[in-house]
Amino acid sequence: MVDCCSAPGLIPFEQALENMLAAIKPITDVENITLTQALGRVLSNDITSPINVPGHNNSAMDGYAFAHESLQNQQSLTLVGRSMAGQPFEGECKKGQCIRIMTGAKIPADCDTVEMQENCQVDGENIHFLAPRHRGDNVRLAGEDISRDQVVFKTGRRLSAIDIGVLASLGINELSVYRKLNVALIATGDELKALGQPLESGDIFESNSYALSAMLKNLNVNVINFGVIADDEKAIREAFLQADAQADAVISSGGVSVGDADYTKLVLEQIGEIAFWKIAMKPGKPFAFGKLPNSIFFGLPGNPVSAMVTADLLAMPALMKLQNCQANPAITLHAKTVTDLRKAPGRMDFQRGVLSYNEQGELMVTSTGNQGSGILTSIAAANCYIVLPAEQGRVKANATVNIRLFERFFA
Ligand code: AMP
Ligand code: MG
Repeated sequence: MVDCCSAPGLIPFEQALENMLAAIKPITDVENITLTQALGRVLSNDITSPINVPGHNNSAMDGYAFAHESLQNQQSLTLVGRSMAGQPFEGECKKGQCIRIMTGAKIPADCDTVEMQENCQVDGENIHFLAPRHRGDNVRLAGEDISRDQVVFKTGRRLSAIDIGVLASLGINELSVYRKLNVALIATGDELKALGQPLESGDIFESNSYALSAMLKNLNVNVINFGVIADDEKAIREAFLQADAQADAVISSGGVSVGDADYTKLVLEQIGEIAFWKIAMKPGKPFAFGKLPNSIFFGLPGNPVSAMVTADLLAMPALMKLQNCQANPAITLHAKTVTDLRKAPGRMDFQRGVLSYNEQGELMVTSTGNQGSGILTSIAAANCYIVLPAEQGRVKANATVNIRLFERFFA
C-alpha cells in the first residue's frame, strides 16, 4: 500500500493554485435584484454614476456663506437670508452680504466660502468675521466624491455593506449580478456522526461540513449539504452523482488518502477526471481537484485543519473565480517569530500564528503551538498563517518569516 503522504511527484502549492484557476470557467448566468438583496452578490456589469455626488456645492459646517472677495477689505457682512439642508436659499447674495448656512445645505451660486459659526460674532444683521479664511473653506464641491458617468464599481465586485450605501447614495436600486452558485458538501467516513447522534466507540462528531458551510456563507452561495456518506464505494458514487446533478461545485472531505477505506479517488476516476492529487503543502497534502460531468470537484482531506486550510487557500479562490468575483490579493507581511518553528524541507508550510507588536514596535508572530492536522484549535486561536517555503528547514526564534493574514473566510 502506498502512503499518500510519502509518494513522489508532489505539485508545488502555487502551481496547483494556478492550474486549478486556469481550469475553471466562470458562470455566465445573471439575474436582476434590488439593493436590499445585494449584500455579498457579485456585479455582472460596471456601475456608472447617473449623478454627481454631492449633487450641489454644499456646506461642511454650520456657519455663514459668502463670496470670498467680499471680505478682502472688511471684516463684517450683512446677513440676507439662510440656507438649510433641503431648504436652499434661492435669492441673491451680493458682495458685502452673507447668508446663514447649515451643514449639507446648498451653497448659492454667488458664494464660494463658508466660515464656521464659532469664528463669527453676530450683531443683529451684522456678522463679524474673527479669523482669517481661504477661498473655498468648508465647501464640499458638487461631484467631488463621485462625478456623473464615473465608473463606481467594476464587474466582478462583491458588494459590501459600504458598497450598498454608495449605490443607495446614487439612487441605484436595481442591479444585475451573477446568479448564486450551488455548492454541495459531502462528508465521508464511517466514524462520523451528525450532531445529536450518540457517539459509539471510535466515533467522532462530523465537523467539517459545519465549518465549510459557515465559510461558504462568506461567498454567498447556496449550500446543499449531503451530510455523512459511509466509506462505501457505491454510496460515494451515488452521492457524487446526485451532488453533481444539483451543484456547480462539489466539495467532499475525507477519503482522499489511499487507505483501505478511501474511495474518493477511485470513484472520481470512474465518473469524472482528476486534475491533480497531491500538493506539496502542509497541512493538506492529499487534496483533489477535478471535474465531474456537470460540476467542478474539490476533494479536501478529512483532518479538520487540513480541510479548513485547503478550503481557505484553494477551494475558496476557485469558487470565487467560478462566481466571477475579482479577489483582492492576500495581505502578506514580514514578522519575527517569537519561538523556534519546527519544519522539515519538502512542503510549503502554512503554520498558524498570532501577530502582535513587541515593545520596540516590531511585528512579532507567535505560533499557536501544536500544528497537528487534527488540532482545530490551532486555527481558532490564530489570525494569520506563517508561510514557510518548501525548501525551508527548522526556523530559529527571532528569524523573519512571511505572514499571510487570514481572510474573512474564517470569520
Ligand atoms: P480521512 O481523510 O478520511 O482519512 O480522514 C482523516 C481524519 O480526519 C480522520 O481522523 C477522520 O476521522 C477525520 N475526519 C474525516 N472527515 C471528517 C469530518 N467531516 N469531520 C471531522 N473529522 C473528520
Ligand atoms: Mg475517512
